[in-house]
Amino acid sequence: MPFPRHTKNTDAGRADATRRLDIPESARPLRLARIDATGIAAIHLIALLAFVPWFFSWTGIVLALLGLYVFGTLGISLCFHRMLTHRGLVCPKWFEHSLAILGLCCVQDTPARWVGIHRRHHEHADEQPDPHSPLASFLWAHIGWMLFRNRELTRIRLVSRYAKDVMRDPFYAKLEQNFRWVRVVLISWLGFFASAFLVELVVGGSALDAIQFGFSVLIWGVFVRTVLVWHITWSVNSVTHTWGYRNYDTDESSRNNLIIGFLSNGEGWHNNHHAAPRSARFGHRWWELDVTWVTIRLLSALGLARKIVTPYPSLAITADVDRHGV
Ligand SMILES: [Zn+2]
Ligand SMILES: [Zn+2]
Repeated sequence: MPFPRHTKNTDAGRADATRRLDIPESARPLRLARIDATGIAAIHLIALLAFVPWFFSWTGIVLALLGLYVFGTLGISLCFHRMLTHRGLVCPKWFEHSLAILGLCCVQDTPARWVGIHRRHHEHADEQPDPHSPLASFLWAHIGWMLFRNRELTRIRLVSRYAKDVMRDPFYAKLEQNFRWVRVVLISWLGFFASAFLVELVVGGSALDAIQFGFSVLIWGVFVRTVLVWHITWSVNSVTHTWGYRNYDTDESSRNNLIIGFLSNGEGWHNNHHAAPRSARFGHRWWELDVTWVTIRLLSALGLARKIVTPYPSLAITADVDRHGV
């Protein structure tokens, strides 16, 4: 990934979020991606069980909220995105792989395929081959692009073109084989249920209590959390290419969005990110709280992160914040 890729507005029209694009040519004619669509629908439906009182526990809610940070921020934002896709920092391998397992548990496919899709997004942002530009439609960017087959997003094509560096690590290469990553996800689900089940038994609960507690932790701590992390990640694709303000006149329609910025622990400062893709720091103004960046600083102090890339010194905020609104 070149750095910084663009800080000058080479074509003012490309920053216009009201332009219209067709969905990628490689996704036409639309053909349902049955397995992906079924999985996404099933996990949403299971998460809806949270509305059934029998599945409630405060522990489940606390685990869901903590999980947003542990799995979403550490696994997806820090590891899959800032470290593996953009190489904005380096961690010891054992620690990097541990974070990658947290990312796997978010059910957003393997690190290599995630990296491939996201690098393709940066390469063609808000141009027709962009896998998930909201200029095709907001719903397409948010979820539609995953529900239909795209010839350019097959595992082999993406990985061989965009993620060779990731595949050089045998750990990531193995995850691509025999649906190993799915097994990791299933084991993590079982782990949540079994831990809660055993804890309830140990503190003297009945077998029925243990089953109820196990399911409450599974529904809230796994399925509700997974759906929330999904929609936060997906909002970075949809919302932050549609609404928000721009610090930089980049040549796509990326935006910094206050709501997604805070909800996603920094990923929503997306215009900053497109202006300096390799930087591990996404919040550039003082109010742009970037919890992922704070975490990276903490890891650095602990000796667990090095070679941290920061915004290029000549990168100057160029756009008028007020002009674009929030
Ligand atoms: Zn983007
Ligand atoms: Zn990125």
